[in-house]
Amino acid sequence: MDKSKYFRQKLLHWHHTINERELPWKGEKDVYRIWLSEIILQQTRAEQGLKYYERFVNQYPTVQKLAKAPIEEVYKLWEGLGYYNRCRNLHATAQFIAVELKGKFPSTYETILELKGVGPYTAAAIASFGFGLPHAVVDGNVFRVLSRYFGIDTAIDSTEGKKLFQQLAAECLDTTSPAFYNQAIMDFGATVCKPDLPDCLNCPIKGKCTAFEQQLVNELPVKAKKNKIRSRWFRFYLLMHDGKIAVQKRTAKDIWSNLYEFPNEEYASEKEWKAADSSSTELWLKKNNIKRTYQQLSATKAIKQQLSHQLIHGVAVAVQLNGKQVLHSNREWKTVKELKQLPFPKLLNDFLKAGVLELFTWKHTTVNQKT
Ligand code: SF4
Repeated sequence: MDKSKYFRQKLLHWHHTINERELPWKGEKDVYRIWLSEIILQQTRAEQGLKYYERFVNQYPTVQKLAKAPIEEVYKLWEGLGYYNRCRNLHATAQFIAVELKGKFPSTYETILELKGVGPYTAAAIASFGFGLPHAVVDGNVFRVLSRYFGIDTAIDSTEGKKLFQQLAAECLDTTSPAFYNQAIMDFGATVCKPDLPDCLNCPIKGKCTAFEQQLVNELPVKAKKNKIRSRWFRFYLLMHDGKIAVQKRTAKDIWSNLYEFPNEEYASEKEWKAADSSSTELWLKKNNIKRTYQQLSATKAIKQQLSHQLIHGVAVAVQLNGKQVLHSNREWKTVKELKQLPFPKLLNDFLKAGVLELFTWKHTTVNQKT
């Protein structure tokens, strides 16, 4: 039996008889829900995406409900998932489908691919799961399984590799039941042929797996580029006045676009960032025309957030301001209750969760450093 046919048959049998992976969107026929789950699962592990999927389905059971929701409410629900472009596209696409397409989801691979935030993988998933169309999904799981099973060391992130694996995936696809097959290969990659410690001994296709036979399991798949990580250093100022805190929205094309943050200063190097002290705070307040009659708490412990290509380091400094204060036009005062409704990046939420607000009683009684 040829290698592709063997692969397909064994995989489908495994999915039918052994695979017990349960996820709420499996077997789903509602295209809106399929699309929602696929967008959430882009760059997110299924286990993490699960609670977000349930939240979204509960709050917005239809595409019309999602389309009508204020974008900030949608961001708030998305908070913690990262890659906020996905959230912006999700909302824009919901509006497009609800208004322009009168609530009817596009039903061909090509028209699904035209939707904002939908790439070839997501289009194939929606086309096969939602409409039974014969399109093979190719994601990280599929790259890994195919490169190991067929023993292919062409880089999966090269143009040549992408084309090659796409062809191979299409060749292996069971065109009579593409949804079943696609689910099988995704589950197989997630539970058997895992990135680390794949379960080769119990693997149903080990009999013809090249990587297993030639002891190449840990060498495959191959990636051409290593992610370069850029470090950035921030000092956030929690300006507190009259029971409120100053926030601003990040509007630049940068990390955390459209999320809220506290006014801050970014440092060019770790050395400068580490050297910052109360005189740096004073200087920053001056530059920002904020009255100097304040009391300041020492900076919090540094915390960090790993993004795909950046490592963000931050400390927070709480500054209680006295007297009349006029904020810069892009900033606004919010009560603690209002603050909790706003979408913040994970790093700032970590500060909030660590109780940085509780350091203040609004009566200046907890201040431990006066400058
Ligand atoms: S034998 Fe191991 S490497 Fe080969 S497909 Fe199975 S789990 Fe993956």
